[in-house]
Amino acid sequence: MTTEAALRRLLVDLAASLFARGFSVGSAGNISVRLADGYLMTPTNASLGRLDAERLSRLDADFRHLDGDKPSKEVFMHRAFYTARADAGAVVHLHSTMATAVACLPDVDAGNPIPPLTPYFVMRIGGRLPIVPYYRPGDAAMGPAIEAAARGARAVLLANHGPVVSAADLTSAVYAAEELEEAAKLFLLLRTAAPRTLTPAQVAALLE
Ligand code: ZN
Repeated sequence: MTTEAALRRLLVDLAASLFARGFSVGSAGNISVRLADGYLMTPTNASLGRLDAERLSRLDADFRHLDGDKPSKEVFMHRAFYTARADAGAVVHLHSTMATAVACLPDVDAGNPIPPLTPYFVMRIGGRLPIVPYYRPGDAAMGPAIEAAARGARAVLLANHGPVVSAADLTSAVYAAEELEEAAKLFLLLRTAAPRTLTPAQVAALLE
């Protein structure tokens, strides 16, 4: 059983690694993890590169702020995933460049914009990646839209905004967000080519 103190350190380390490699810039991006009786969440206006384990936001099971700094304003995205998915143990939201670029393309399949180019993307993301339509930041309608999309997918792309990715645990959610970014990069690199994708049977074999 991982202690809360160990989870706090892990969250700070993984966030710093994402920041160091350019997966987030400025104060963009936020990460949460489910605890037995609530959640840990990155604070509002905090850089993922310089988090303080002691100051992470502690929320109760109903997402009320208990202690630490105030949670990210995007906490509702995380809540949408935890509400929709009992299997979500952690949620990562980034404005990472390549995934966000795909989320700005008008002529992709809004139900699954990135083709199954590699098995790692399929296994980490689960074969479905719906695009949630654009909402102005702060629009209360965004939460229900994310929750509806998350019922059928472990990860979503927010149009003109960025990815939200869930997984069973914190490390897996970060790895899935990284794999999504790499898959988006491959997709954009190969967009004018005609790449061989995995076949439906090959995808199905990965999701068994
Ligand atoms: Zn955002």
